[in-house]
Amino acid sequence: MKFAEFIRDVPDFPEKGIVFKDITTLLKNTDAFKHVCDLMVEKYHDKEVDKIVGIESRGFIFGSVAAYLLGCGFVPARKPGKLPAETISEDYTLEYGKNTLEIHVDGIKPGEKVVIMDDLLATGGTARAVAKLVEKLKGEILGMEFLIELEFLKGIEKLPGYPVTSYIKY
Ligand code: AMP
Repeated sequence: MKFAEFIRDVPDFPEKGIVFKDITTLLKNTDAFKHVCDLMVEKYHDKEVDKIVGIESRGFIFGSVAAYLLGCGFVPARKPGKLPAETISEDYTLEYGKNTLEIHVDGIKPGEKVVIMDDLLATGGTARAVAKLVEKLKGEILGMEFLIELEFLKGIEKLPGYPVTSYIKY
C-alpha cells in the first residue's frame, strides 16, 4: 500500500511557507489507517513495551491504537497547562514557532520501556523534548515511530542514538 497517496499537502498552513502534511485523508480510509497502525507496532510485539508516549495531538491517534495493540499503557505528552496533576516540562522549537511540552511525573516509572510516537518528524525539536522528558523520569526509550518524516529538515540529527522509524519520507 502506498501510504503517501493518502497524505494531503496543504500549502501555507498554519502559516505562509509551510506545506502542512494533512493526515486526516489517511485516517478516514479504513484500510490505510489500519495498515499504518499495524506497521507502526510490528517490531515491538516481542519487546515488552511498558508505555507508549504519544505527542499532542496527532501522536495521540497512533499512540493510543498502538498501546491497545501492544497491550501496554499510554502516556500523553501535552501542551502546557493541559495536564492536571504534577508535571515536568521541556521547551523546544518547531518548524513554525516555539512551544513547551509536559508529562505527568507519575506517567513513567524508572526502568520502564517506552516507545515515543507522533504523526510527523520535522526538525526533531518536539521528539527530542519528549525524549528528554522520558529520560528525566528514567524511562528507557526503545524506539521512536513517526508516520511521516520530512528528511530535508534533518530532524534525525537531533535524535542521535535513538532507533527512529518513519514510513513516508519526503
Ligand atoms: P518538529 O519538532 O519540527 O519535528 O515538528 C514536529 C511536530 O510538528 C509534529 O507534532 C507535527 O505534527 C508538527 N509538524 C511540523 N511540521 C509539520 C508539517 N509540515 N505538517 C504537519 N505537521 C507538522
